[in-house]
Amino acid sequence: MSQKTSNDLQDLQYFGEYGGVNPSISDSSTYTFISAKTMFDTFEGNTEGCYLYSRHSSPSNLYLGEALAALEGTESANVTASGMGAITAVILQLCNAGDHIISSRTIYGGTYAFMKNFLIKFGIKTTFLDITDLDAVAKAITPKTKMIYCESVSNPLLEVADISALSRISKKNELPLVVDNTFSPLTVTPAKLGADIIIHSLTKFINGTSDCVAGVVCGTTEFCLSLKDVNNGAGMLLGSTLDSLRAASILKNMRTLHIRMKKHSENAMFLAQNFEKDGLRVVYPGLPSHPGHLIMEDQMNPEYGYGGLVTMDVGTLENANALMELMQERKLGYLAVSLGFYKTLFSAPGTSTSSEIPLDEQEEMGLGNGLIRFSIGLDDDIQRTYSLMKKCLLDLKILDITSIKA
Ligand code: PLP
Repeated sequence: MSQKTSNDLQDLQYFGEYGGVNPSISDSSTYTFISAKTMFDTFEGNTEGCYLYSRHSSPSNLYLGEALAALEGTESANVTASGMGAITAVILQLCNAGDHIISSRTIYGGTYAFMKNFLIKFGIKTTFLDITDLDAVAKAITPKTKMIYCESVSNPLLEVADISALSRISKKNELPLVVDNTFSPLTVTPAKLGADIIIHSLTKFINGTSDCVAGVVCGTTEFCLSLKDVNNGAGMLLGSTLDSLRAASILKNMRTLHIRMKKHSENAMFLAQNFEKDGLRVVYPGLPSHPGHLIMEDQMNPEYGYGGLVTMDVGTLENANALMELMQERKLGYLAVSLGFYKTLFSAPGTSTSSEIPLDEQEEMGLGNGLIRFSIGLDDDIQRTYSLMKKCLLDLKILDITSIKA
């Protein structure tokens, strides 16, 4: 299964305008027509291969979309100016005023805020629930429900969604299953497990260089075209368009995604295993102690590992802040939000990327304020990184030498 995913990507081959090994970048916001009739037909969506205006589509964005559709095994993909640009367009395309959404309660804080605070303006209500409780998901469906939403591996708790089981529920009820796969590109292929629409923040692993913000919606050609419809497509009308120059640079960075994912996963596994042995409260889908470990094993493409994200609960916000500051001082990474960079990035989600979630709800879902989310980097010598991180933990007395398990 995974073999095919990487082969589809590998087989994509483009020739630039002058035979270049990279496709030429479309440096135009608008396109000419020889005949006025063709322009009219293009507006009506009847002309294949004609470009009209770059908010609608551009050659560079289509090339990147093609690569992402190959990555996710979907018919088509539309790139957007951010991950949130993809999420908001999908939701507003699927839901009308007064509709209902079922969503995992552990999702990116921005998505949570959009569903909870913004959609309410249109009377669209969201039931947030424990997505691993399949009975609760089935019971929450009402005649007004228009979608089931989750993240394959959730931000920030790294909860693993059982995509095949959720897809059986969604198909039985004729609802689309929308999966944000930002944390696990290549590792998980949600479409092959039955998901209908797959979203990424390209800002993270897929681009991998923390130099831009972008997103994508992968799905059927019919759905992707509906998003671009000039009369009622949420993608076209909300205007979250990716710039062609950025689309071209993300496509080039994507060429090394498979190598990077393997290294992120290898390093994350090494640190997770060792810090767990040291007696720290570590969460990583690759550890047998993770409640979703077996589901992950069942649905992952094993050669890419369990992903680059690890969380560690160091008890208090003071400990978390002191550790992150010291790690940055000792050049072990950056105290920064986001993920998928070559250096390790760390932040305390309770006071940053998940701060939109009220404190009582954070507590209920197990998001303590001593929790640190690490996006493990591509360090060549991870044994050295482990020793240096451990020294930080010992110096701050978060880890006590006498309590380290043998
Ligand atoms: N989805 C997930 C899982 C994220 O972590 C983020 C951002 O952190 C987003 C979506 C939003 O992406 P962007 O910042 O590119 O809009």
